[in-house]
Parts: sequence; C-alpha cells; structure tokens
Amino acid sequence: MAGRLRTLAGSFRGRIVLGYALIVLLLAGVWAWSLYEPLTQAALDQQRSHLESIAHVSAIALSETSASPAAEIRSLVAGTGLRATVVAADGTVLADSAQDPATMANHATRPEIAAALRGAVGTDTRVSSTQGVAQMYVAVPSTLDGARVAVRVSEPLATINAIADNGRRTGLLLLLGALAIAVYAGLRLSALAAEPVLRLRDAAESMAAGDLHTPIPSGPGELGELATSLETLRDTMRGTITELEGGQATLHAVLDGLQDAVFVFEGDRVALANRAAGALFRVPAAGWRGTVLADVMFPASLAATVRSNLACETTNTAEVGPDPEGRYYRVTAVHLSPLDGSPRTLVVVADVTEVRRLDAVRRDFVANASHELKTPTSAIQLLAEAAGHAAEDGDTAQAMEFVGQIDEEADRLRRLVVDLLDLSRLERPPGAGGVTDMRLAIANALAAHRSAAAAADLQITLDTTAAANDDVYTTADATDVAIALDNLLANAIAYTERGSVTVRLSADRDTVTVAVSDTGMGIPAEHLPRVFERFYRVDAARTRVTGGTGLGLSLVRNAAERSRGSVEISSQVGIGTTVTVHLPRAH
Ligand code: ADP
Repeated sequence: MAGRLRTLAGSFRGRIVLGYALIVLLLAGVWAWSLYEPLTQAALDQQRSHLESIAHVSAIALSETSASPAAEIRSLVAGTGLRATVVAADGTVLADSAQDPATMANHATRPEIAAALRGAVGTDTRVSSTQGVAQMYVAVPSTLDGARVAVRVSEPLATINAIADNGRRTGLLLLLGALAIAVYAGLRLSALAAEPVLRLRDAAESMAAGDLHTPIPSGPGELGELATSLETLRDTMRGTITELEGGQATLHAVLDGLQDAVFVFEGDRVALANRAAGALFRVPAAGWRGTVLADVMFPASLAATVRSNLACETTNTAEVGPDPEGRYYRVTAVHLSPLDGSPRTLVVVADVTEVRRLDAVRRDFVANASHELKTPTSAIQLLAEAAGHAAEDGDTAQAMEFVGQIDEEADRLRRLVVDLLDLSRLERPPGAGGVTDMRLAIANALAAHRSAAAAADLQITLDTTAAANDDVYTTADATDVAIALDNLLANAIAYTERGSVTVRLSADRDTVTVAVSDTGMGIPAEHLPRVFERFYRVDAARTRVTGGTGLGLSLVRNAAERSRGSVEISSQVGIGTTVTVHLPRAH
C-alpha cells in the first residue's frame, strides 16, 4: 500500500491529485481560519441574546408574580439547563434556581449584576465562583415588591461551546467531503490529462525497445507538438539505423569476401571476425565475439606474434611459420582508435603457404631450367673448341665427329627451348571456344612419330573400337592436344626397346579418353607420384641416351588441366606403361 502510494506520488497523475488536494486543503484552511472567530462569536452573540430574552421574560414574570421569587425563577428555567438568580440592589442574592442563596456571596461587584442594577443589560463570561465552570451571564433590571433587583440568567459555556463545536464538526465534515471530491476530481481529471501522456510514453518505450514503426499518437496542444517531435526523432533514428545497417552489411560482405582472416581485437578479446577467419582457424563453440586470444585456435607462434602486436601504436607486419602443419602466415596488425577506453587492434592473417610454395617452385624451376640450358650450351662451346683444334690439326674426320656432336647438343638445346616455350604457352589461360577432332589429332601425331617408331623397330597401332563410328571432338585446344600426344608418343617410343606402342581412343557422354600404352621398361612404383614434376627424371643416365628434357609429362599434365581435363599413369617395370588423358567432350 505504502509502495503504491509512493509510486502514485511520484507519477504524473499522483502529482496532479496531490496538487488538487493541497489546493483544497489550503483554501479550506484559509476559509476555516477566517471564519472560526466570527462563527464562534456569532454563536456566543446568539446565545447571549437568547439568554437576554429569557432574562427579560423572567424579569417581567418576577415583577408581576405574587409567588416567592425562588419558586418563580425555578419554574421559569425548569428543564432548560439554565440557571436563574435574583440579586437585590445591595448585591444580596435573593433567590437562585440552583443553589441556596444563603450560601452565596454578595454579587454587587459582579459586572453583569452591577450593570443590571444600574438599569442596563449586563453580560459577562467567566468561571463561576460557586460552580467552578465557565459560564455566560446575562442580567437585566427588574423590580420585586417595588424594589430594584437584577435578574440574571446563566448557562455553562460548555453548552454554548457544544453548539459551536457542532458547527465546527459540520464544517470539518464539509471540508472532508470537499477533499474527497477534490481527490476524486483530481483522479478523473489527471486520468484525462495523463492519458495522452501515457500513450506517448508507451510509444516512446516501444521506440526505445527497437520498434521504429510504432505509430505515435497525437495529443492536444503541447502534447501534439511533443508527438510531432517524437515522430521526427523516430524517422531520423530509422534513417540513421537503416544507414548504419546498410553500412554494416556492406562492411560484413566486404570482410567476408576477403581471402585473408580479419579480426578486430578489443583488448585481448575478439570483437569481430570474418568468414575466412572461421575457414582458417576453427570458429569457437560460443562464436568469435568475446573469445580471448588464448582460446583462439592459432598455432603457438602465430598467437605469440598477435599477442605482441595487440594494442600496438603503429602498423606492423610479420611473417610466421612454419607451424606444425608446415603452414606460413603473414600477420598485419593495425592500431585502431580506442572505443570506450579499450585499445583496439585490427589483425589480418594471410595464409601464405601456397605463395611461398609457388615461390619455391618458381625458384627451383629457374635454377633447373638454367642448369638444363647450361649443360648443352657448355658442351657446344667445348665441342666447338675441340672441332676447331681438330681442324687446325688437319684431322677432318675428328672435326666432323665433333661437329656431329655439336649438332646433337644443339638439337637437345632446341628441344629444351621448344618444351620451355610450350610450357609457357600452357601456363597462360586457355582461349575461349574451339573444338578439336581427336581422330585427326591422333592421326597427325602418329604420322609425325611413325618413322621414329620404325627406326626403333616398334609397331604402332591405333585402337578406336571403343569410339567406333562416333565423331570424337574435345573442347581442348588443338595445339594443346598436339603437345600432349607428341610427348606421350615420344616417351613411349623412347622408353620401349621392343614390342609395340598402342593408342586407344574412347569416349563417353562427357569425356574423351586417349590412352598411350607401350611394352617398354616401365617405371618403378616409387617414382610414379613424381613423374609429372618438371625436370623430374626416373633415370638420368637413361634419359641422357633418349635425350629427354624432363619436361614431357609435365607438359602433358599442363595441357590436360588447361582444358579442364586430367591425366593418370600406370606402369609395371619390365611390362610397360600406360598414360591416360581425359578431356572434356565437345558436342
Ligand atoms: P623426359 O623428357 O625425360 O622423358 P618426362 O617428363 O616425359 O621427361 O618423363 C619423366 C620420366 O618418366 C622420364 O625421365 C622417364 O624416366 C619416365 N617415363 C616417362 N614416360 C615413360 C614411359 N613411357 N616408359 C618408361 N618411363 C617413362
């Protein structure tokens, strides 16, 4: 109850009701204060004139009666609660309706008696010496048996006050009634006044809760203006929020589109992470937000680097790795302006393992290619010198032999350069469109190698039974197909001493397959996974004889993959090798 009253007192309505009640109390107080004295006085005056009338009647009755004055006045005031006294001119009490006159003192000095004995109406209010209570006295002149007497009528003030109290009680009741009416009116009026305010409050509360579409109720006067202001505020907020949401969505889309992991740390806790962060490092079970650095699944070295860069004042970049999985990371830490006093750091983590690997591959390739080029070049230089000396010595046969070797080395150099040119071609993105007739491409390749096969006493056969009567076209580029077939046939012939080389063409709905098999020496199983690497050779001595560049199979793989095809190899030492190329079929 007390709590509700306190709430009411603190509320808008409560203040209105309290205001009303205070005003009523104040007005009633002023009213009561200003009327109290006059009302009391009026009651006394009325009572005085009442007593005076009775005194006059008693005086007349006394002057005309033949009975004893005591009996006369007793009968006059009997049952009225009044007291009547008859006092002689010398102040002796002749008769009293309440007391034996013999026991009563001389009344000559009583002001009302003195006045009456002088022929006037005397009044007084005082505590009775005989009765000990406050009394109102009214005395009038009269005659008894021809002598001047004073007839006095008195009444206890308590009786008069009771009448005044009665009036006051009625006043108080009226006041309470007015107060109740004021409170009720206050409640009703405040309810009326508060209603638009409460509706505005509800609208403002739902706005604060995030509902920016809630209608704002209008109200009278200033409340209407307040509603308009609230509406403007709501529209501004909606615009700002939409703008912010748009900006944030763009930011998230941009961040999620990045390949690198992006984190924003507040202190040592993650405030934001993009999608790549989840792909590179596991997303914590409770989500990224609020995860401390120690709980982020960073490899130890990466975590240490990030930690040392948190709250950095500058932009730092560092490369860390390899981690236990052999991965390398580049970490960039950027200082951001603090938010709510806590330092913020943008941390971008890029997985540079592949970049590093490609770098290493490229470095190796340049070193290998330089080495491969240097070998025949040096040989040519030496052979040319030797041929020169032989010619000087007049040894023409020797000179011619050196010239022949120069020719071989030059040819080897030419093949190497051709392979390198093919390789650089195959590393470029493929051109659009175009189809290649596989039967024609195989026929051309076979024609180019038939004499070499014949020289090696090898039989070359073409098997197209699996693609009988079918047009077999591929979307692969004709030159790429030619490079692949050329290298496969060259290898099959080079690494087969006796037997045959077979080319098989087959096709299903989506794929064209060419398999080149031989009955040659085969490749030991441990070398098979690496034969497609550039410059990888199974047996260097053997290759020297065949004159291979070590690039043949890597060219085949590049050609197949450039056309979104694939290649595989199977081999058994002493039995033979089959290299199979799958290419997308053109319809
Ligand atoms: P190369 O130009 O030296 O032949 P490749 O890349 O074409 O280089 O082949 C890589 C290695 O695989 C060769 O050194 C060779 O030892 C082996 N190889 C390739 N094809 C065959 C095959 N048909 N039979 C046996 N060995 C082969």
